[in-house]
This record gives sequence, C-alpha cells and structure tokens, in this order.
Amino acid sequence: MEIDDIYEDESYRDRISTVTEDGKRNWVYALKPKGVYYNYRTALAVLYLLVFFGLPFIKVNGMPFVLLNVLEGKFILFSKIFWPNDFHIFAIAMITFIVFIALFTIVFGRLFCGWICPQTIFMEFVFRKIEWWIEGSPAKQRLLDKADWTFTKVWKKALKHILFFLFSFLVAHTFLAYILGIDEISKIITEPLSNNLSLFLGIIGFALTFYGVFAFVREIVCTTICPYGRLQGVLFDQDTMLVAYDYKRGEQRGKFKKNEERILGDCIDCHQCVNVCPTGIDIRNGTQLDCVGCTACMDACDFMMDKVGLPKGLIRYASENGIEKGEKLHFTPKIKAYTAILILLTVVLVALLFSRKDIDVSISRVGGQLYQEQPDNKLSNLFNANIINKTNQTFPVEFRVENYDGKIQLVGEHAIQLKKEDITKSTFFIILNKKDVKKRSIKLEIGIYRNNKKIQTVSTKFLGPFV
Ligand code: SF4
Ligand code: SF4
Repeated sequence: MEIDDIYEDESYRDRISTVTEDGKRNWVYALKPKGVYYNYRTALAVLYLLVFFGLPFIKVNGMPFVLLNVLEGKFILFSKIFWPNDFHIFAIAMITFIVFIALFTIVFGRLFCGWICPQTIFMEFVFRKIEWWIEGSPAKQRLLDKADWTFTKVWKKALKHILFFLFSFLVAHTFLAYILGIDEISKIITEPLSNNLSLFLGIIGFALTFYGVFAFVREIVCTTICPYGRLQGVLFDQDTMLVAYDYKRGEQRGKFKKNEERILGDCIDCHQCVNVCPTGIDIRNGTQLDCVGCTACMDACDFMMDKVGLPKGLIRYASENGIEKGEKLHFTPKIKAYTAILILLTVVLVALLFSRKDIDVSISRVGGQLYQEQPDNKLSNLFNANIINKTNQTFPVEFRVENYDGKIQLVGEHAIQLKKEDITKSTFFIILNKKDVKKRSIKLEIGIYRNNKKIQTVSTKFLGPFV
C-alpha cells in the first residue's frame, strides 16, 4: 500500500490542529503520557530544572559559573570573563551552535523540541503537571471548562493560575540572576521595594509574559511562532529520523476484536496517540510541522500494542525511507558537508578559547605627537595603554622594553595597578638611546610582567627623527 492511497483526505493540511474550522482556538486537553520514553523525559526534565535554577548559585573562586550581563556587555562562562572584545569568540560559538542545530535537525528531526527545549520542559513537566494535579484528567478539565462558575470551579481555576504565576515569578527572578548575578538579586530582594521599583516592574512584566505564554498561548509557540519550528520544512529530508507512524504495518486500521483473527493492519484505531499529543495532531496523517517529536504517542501506542498482544513500535523513531523502503539511517552528502563544517568551526572555537588571555593589552602612541629629545642623547615617545583585566583579581603589572635598551617612565603614577574585571588606562614615556633609533620608525616589543613573570608581549611603533 502506498502512502498516497492512505491519505486521500488531506483536509487536515488546510489548517493547524489548534484552530477549528470556524477559526476558533481548539484547546488541547492532552492525556498524561506514561511509558519508557516519558520516564526518560521526566528524568531529563528534573535534571534540566535543577541546572536551570541551581546554576546562578554556583561560583568558582568567587566568580559566578555563568553570568550573561547583556546590560554591561560582560559575560562569564565556566567562571571566565568574556568582554565585548571577545565578541569574535561569541560569533564563532553562535555559528557553531547554529550549524550543530541544523545538522542535528537534519539527522534527528525535532528531537531538540521534544526533549530539551525550555518551552516543552516548562509546559509538559511543570505547567501541565500542575493542571493535571488540580483539574484532573483531560475529560475532567473539559467538564470543568464547560461548567458554570461554581465555588469548585472558582477555587480550582484560581489556585491553578496563582501557582502558574508564582512559578513564572520565580523564573523571572532566575533569569535576572543570570543577568545581574545572584548576589545582586539577593540584595535587591532584601532592599525596600522603592529602591528598585523599575526593576521590580520589569520582573512583573517578564513574569506576566511568561505566565501568559504557558497559561494561554502554549503549543501555539511550537506550531506557529517558533522560527526553529518553521525551519523544519527545509531541513528535513527522506532520511531524517522522526517520530513516525509505520503506515505499511498499521494500515488498514480498524478496531480490535478479541478472539478474532486480525486481517486488518496493526493500528486498532484507539486514538490514544491523538489523545496524548500536546499539539493535538494525528501522527497517522504523516509527518507534520506541528509535531514536536515529544514521543508521547510512541509511549501511548506501545502501551496499546502491548495490551492487544501486537509488537511494539508501530509509532517509532524512523525515517521516511526507513518506513517505506526499510532503509537504515545513513550518512547522506548533506550530512557529510554539515559535519565537515561543524568540525572545522569546533576546532577554530577550541583554538580561540585556549589561546584567550586573561588580560588584553593594547599600546599605541599618543596621537599628534612625534618624538621628544631627552638629556644624555636619548629620545622618547609618549604612549597610551589600554588594559582589560578579565580576572576577578586586582594586581600590579610592569611594562619592560624587550628588544632595545629602553626605559619606561609612567606619567602621574608609580605602578600600573589592574583592577579586577575592569579596564585600566595608563600613559607613559618610552625612552631609548638615540643611537638605537636608526630608522624613522622602529618596532618595539613590550613585555607585560606580573610578579616578575612575563604574561604577554605586545608590539608597538617608536618614532624617531628622519635619518
Ligand atoms: S505526534 Fe507524537 S511526537 Fe509529535 S507532538 Fe504529537 S505526541 Fe508528540
Ligand atoms: S495509538 Fe497506535 S494503535 Fe492506537 S490509533 Fe494510534 S497508531 Fe493506532
């Protein structure tokens, strides 16, 4: 049987599953999944939430493990500070991440959406669980929504939405902790509200948006709004692994009758795969953009197959070619090309991260000045230094001329003291013997020393008279 013979009625492709024919919202009352995949996803979600809420509290040597202060352009990853001048590393990291996501999607479809995406984790493992806990099964939820506003309905709805908002409020604080740091958040929480009113209003705004997304917008984020979701159509091909219904085995579907020899396909048309689907689709209609690859239908179908004594895996991870031609997953030229680019980008990224220095020094001559004659047959040039200290320590540094017999004379200070996580500016003369300046411009190597140990060498130019 060919796929086109099965799906004569393609009307489901004319509208998204969450919109009725007359354009109204088709609210999804998803059944609680149970099964092997759901257990794995639950374990992953617990780990995910622990990491999300715990990470802002982790410090290494007094530095946050992660800080994404977009307001000041200061980022800390793995307790290392990155400044705007490290932007190229971020750019490469972002490109690597995008190529990784593209490659991953080509091979494994929307695995990211179903297993890792925060939208799915928060929706399925926090908000929907609260809903099941307070309002009960999908059938009970439906009844409650249709019922008049009795006392029971009021307290159930009120409790659900209060818990939804409180969780959103907590998430808003956690996000802010990623931006400002946990110490700053603790300070803000303990201070009088009037001291941080605008920040508080910002948190309320974020919490309300977050609450709105999970209380009302829900799966529409995945099926309509998310740009990554919309990209699937161009990234998928016949070899992409997806949550797929084996129509060859399942059709022609029909009800299961006990003690009767089955002459139909293995799909017993129980609709359990549809009932558990958080985006409200019927996977038996074939691959659809609305499928987030959550595996809930795989668990539901395996459960039913087990009950009626048929082999599991009627809905399973498989590619279109896998189902139609029985092919195994293989490396296509597209996957090979993406893999090569990904390896190259990863090598560049690792090299950049390992060659990254704790301080960044730039030295340049003060503009509009030539050289100065000094006593004892010497010449000087005036320089500015810009030093970014990316560590969380304050320490002095010393500059030395490495390739000439030269002296450094600071202007207005005795030593260069680098403040932690800050930019220090310094002005100084470099004084050389006139006899050494044999050209109009010579290249100087300046060594930067910390505790008499050279930590970096910087080049600059010294100007002399025309010879
Ligand atoms: S079709 Fe299956 S895998 Fe896709 S979203 Fe629905 S339940 Fe999840
Ligand atoms: S759960 Fe399995 S058997 Fe039941 S309708 Fe879906 S595909 Fe058919």
